[in-house]
Amino acid sequence: MFEALSTRLNGVFDKLRRRGALSEADVTEALREVRVALLEADVALPVARDLIAKVRERAVGVEVIRSVSPAQQVIKIVNDALVEALGGGEGAEAPGLDLNAPSPVPILMVGLQGSGKTTTSGKIALRLRTRDKKKVLLASLDVARPAAQLQLQTLATQAGVMSLPIVPGQSPLEIAARAMDMARRELFDVVILDTAGRLSIDDALMSEVAAVKAATKPHQTLLVVDAMTGQDAVNTARNFQDRVGVNGIVMTRVDGDARGGAALSMRATTGAPIRLLGAGEKLDALEDFHPDRIASRILGMGDIVSLVERAAETIDRDEAEKLAAKMKKGTFDLEDFASQLKQVGKMGNLSGILGMLPGMGAMKAQIGNAKIDDKMVGRQAAIISSMTAKEKRNPDIIKASRKKRIASGAGVTVQDVNRLLKQFDDMSAMMKRMNKLGQKGLMRGGLG
Ligand code: GDP
Repeated sequence: MFEALSTRLNGVFDKLRRRGALSEADVTEALREVRVALLEADVALPVARDLIAKVRERAVGVEVIRSVSPAQQVIKIVNDALVEALGGGEGAEAPGLDLNAPSPVPILMVGLQGSGKTTTSGKIALRLRTRDKKKVLLASLDVARPAAQLQLQTLATQAGVMSLPIVPGQSPLEIAARAMDMARRELFDVVILDTAGRLSIDDALMSEVAAVKAATKPHQTLLVVDAMTGQDAVNTARNFQDRVGVNGIVMTRVDGDARGGAALSMRATTGAPIRLLGAGEKLDALEDFHPDRIASRILGMGDIVSLVERAAETIDRDEAEKLAAKMKKGTFDLEDFASQLKQVGKMGNLSGILGMLPGMGAMKAQIGNAKIDDKMVGRQAAIISSMTAKEKRNPDIIKASRKKRIASGAGVTVQDVNRLLKQFDDMSAMMKRMNKLGQKGLMRGGLG
């Protein structure tokens, strides 16, 4: 459901990444475009405004990590702000349902008619039975629509769980009491109470749902909203939150082409987390809502985000700065190359990472995508460590006989040694070019 937003944001960040250094004007322009993209995706105005303000504030104060580009850091900051808007980040609740309560755990399903409430009840029941091995009871409190209770009964059969026997003429409160009673007697783990919906918010509906809630004290009151209704879903949620009180949101029809903004506004507007997503009509089309995964789906740049995270965690700052200074002075030798490789090696699996590191793009292009792995880094480190100190400082003296000695010392072929020397040559040449440009490519003193 986030395709359009994702495409827009990708465009903004592509532009940003083509610049080596970022001026304040670049960042401001990019954020302006991010804001427009959010609004076009139907994110509520105050939510978009807050998000941009947060990103700007953090971008200004950010410490530059030398091993990643400023644009990548901006992307990471936007990503973190998105994760927070989606209800994730530090201190957030675990994704999915919260069933941490004494059995039988009552779950109350509320929402407008047609939002997917009954289908979602069936989906949750199926998942709890099959994945979590729970004994689940389904009960429909919808006495307004004659077919509603039968519909839930059919879904229960499909999900392989019990449904409360239908007794005509009972009120929603009576049905709820009977369901809880049966669940206690027959030792059910979870009772899912599906309430009646209306086509739009009305007082009678709200009072009915509030009364059921007061009587059953549900551990989770889940509001089901249709993602396709965009901003209306957010308004519905605000209403339910004010008048009934919910502690979780299920967003359905995310398999459609909804613009996704509602998902981004939901947390800020209601305070309740989106817990689950409905992604189809079938009973197994239910997903936990992971703010971090959704954010990287929106940005389409999960690789960059984790790169920046890992770089910040593992790259030795002093070491990186020493190397950068040597690059600048043109005294970078094979010893330094080895220590750069070690830093890269620390970041774990390398596919796709090398090309993003400043100065390593050329190397990656040479080696080709497929062969970049930890083994290769190890082999290269072994080659370099088979060299004498003099050779490392002066690679030019490494001719045929030295190559043979180094190769056998490292347990590789002479071609491997040649390849490494060629990479080092290319890299030195590139650094000289960079130095001629006066290191304009690196931004100094923060991103702001
Ligand atoms: P209720 O009135 O809120 O109980 O809504 P229903 O559960 O009866 O769902 C209304 C319609 O939406 C049904 O045709 C469902 O199959 C369909 N539906 C429910 N959830 C989803 C979903 O996640 N994706 C899609 N594509 N359809 C859904």
